[in-house]
Amino acid sequence: MNNAIFNFKEPKNEPIHGYLKNSKERLALEKELDRQSSEIIDIPLIIGGKEIRTGKTGKVVMPHNHGHVLANYHMATEKEIQMAIDAALNAKTDWMNLSWVERASIMLKAAELISEKYRFKLNAATMLGQGKNCFQAEIDSACEVIDFLRFNAYFTSRIYKDQPSSAVDMINRLEYRPLEGFIFTVSPFNFTAIASNLNTSVAVMGNTTVWKPATTSLLSNYTLMEIFKEAGMPEGVINFIPGPGSLIGKTVLAHKEMAGIHFTGSTSTFNTLWKMASEHVERYKSYPKIVGETGGKDFIVAHSSADPHEVATAIARGAFEFQGQKCSAASRAYIPTSLWKTVKDDLLQMVSEMKMGDVRDFNNFINAVIDESAFNTIMGYIDKAKNSSEVKILIGGEGDKSKGYFIKPTVIQTDNPHFITMEEEIFGPVMTIYIYDDAKYEEILKVCDSTSIYALTGAVFARDKYAMVAACRALRYAAGNFYFNDKPSGALVGMQPFGGARASGTNDKSGSHLNLLRWVSPRTIKETLLPATDFRYSYMME
Ligand code: NAD
Repeated sequence: MNNAIFNFKEPKNEPIHGYLKNSKERLALEKELDRQSSEIIDIPLIIGGKEIRTGKTGKVVMPHNHGHVLANYHMATEKEIQMAIDAALNAKTDWMNLSWVERASIMLKAAELISEKYRFKLNAATMLGQGKNCFQAEIDSACEVIDFLRFNAYFTSRIYKDQPSSAVDMINRLEYRPLEGFIFTVSPFNFTAIASNLNTSVAVMGNTTVWKPATTSLLSNYTLMEIFKEAGMPEGVINFIPGPGSLIGKTVLAHKEMAGIHFTGSTSTFNTLWKMASEHVERYKSYPKIVGETGGKDFIVAHSSADPHEVATAIARGAFEFQGQKCSAASRAYIPTSLWKTVKDDLLQMVSEMKMGDVRDFNNFINAVIDESAFNTIMGYIDKAKNSSEVKILIGGEGDKSKGYFIKPTVIQTDNPHFITMEEEIFGPVMTIYIYDDAKYEEILKVCDSTSIYALTGAVFARDKYAMVAACRALRYAAGNFYFNDKPSGALVGMQPFGGARASGTNDKSGSHLNLLRWVSPRTIKETLLPATDFRYSYMME
């Protein structure tokens, strides 16, 4: 089986199902939503392939109806965290010695299972547990999960094929060793695809993981574990340990075989993990690879040559899809005076038409934010805006957490380009807009670049090529994913490798081969065919 050089063809992105009324997929999804809404499941830890129940439990609820319990989950204590590390280390040798084609085949089988058999189960779990409407779930827990799995098999084959030159008297090779030890994977609540990829991108390169999932995404994340098992993922390759982040982080990071952190979440959590890893640096067997994709304060800049209807649509979708809880969600915009009236009229019209409510009602564009703590933080920013003389709330500004965590999509206009909601990540349905004088385009690009600590995504709308080029230059470091004439969210695996720098992360570009390269420690092997037999060089000879 190893005596073959195997190539995986570049895949195509998974097509998005439409979910039109009475379509086959809509009926299947509705049935699955009903089924999952009518049961309470028990979510164990999964360590070395075994289900473990600690009896120390918490609840998974629907964000749009927090009285409705979907699952009870078991939390890891220090004992199970150690067990998970041991399981990852024990599974490592067999896993890394398996032919890489076999590892890739498990990933591809998982992709097929999700594309066909489990599409609606995973989408329904993402909708109910993470508060996504059917389209947001489809592009995340179906399409993006599948794309990551398929494209990573292809990227792996490209990486392994990349070899140094040899000569007639020597053979040179690069062996792409997995890292020595285990990888600590820590996932955020907002994307099922990220939770999947943080583990599978690392595993396809021959590593094993200790995975700390976010509590509010456990329904879909546990479903992923079940699918991985059915796809043939061996015991101990991915060890799933829900529980308190601080305890898990502290225990895992103190282990000498902690070889890497694959993190997505907030900047402050990432900073904490990095600092803890630094404290243990002398204890580690190798310098850990630390990869983190973190917060954003993503922008839209419109030039006076832009089409105002396109700008308004990009703001409406970019800021309010999934309640603004995408790291790439637009949350500040700079609009020239000449376009403002049309942009404003259009935008307010669109926002006033957005329906909000239960994810099971397919008319709703807006659903609830993830939990009470997010609700309180977002409302805190809205209250600051309400109490300031520098801003006007144009629409929205209200929230109600009595049944679900609902916040109306909110548009704020400010005459201070450094107002707090222009600078800080809110991670909710709040867009702040600053109107600038058309003649000050170059100046506003500088303001945009220097306003926030983040540099994740950003978009520029213009029809004037010179204005586009000027923005590309002035905003070179302001975003890792930069868009012309499109909203700044919705990156596709294989098409727009994703990640940002500054306080937005290490910019290791998930959805490309660049991310996979972080999970190997290459060994160069040189074999000399006729070794020297005399210490003297020719210049020393008589
Ligand atoms: P978060 O930082 O609150 O949590 C992320 C994960 O870290 C969770 O699993 C949490 O339990 C865990 N955690 C918290 N403290 C920990 C500790 N001390 N040790 C170990 N684990 C710990 O983030 P969130 O609210 O789940 O997600 C939202 C954030 O994620 C936003 O800031 C968003 O911008 C960011 N995000 C970034 C990207 C990206 O690609 N740049 C993508 C998605 C989300």
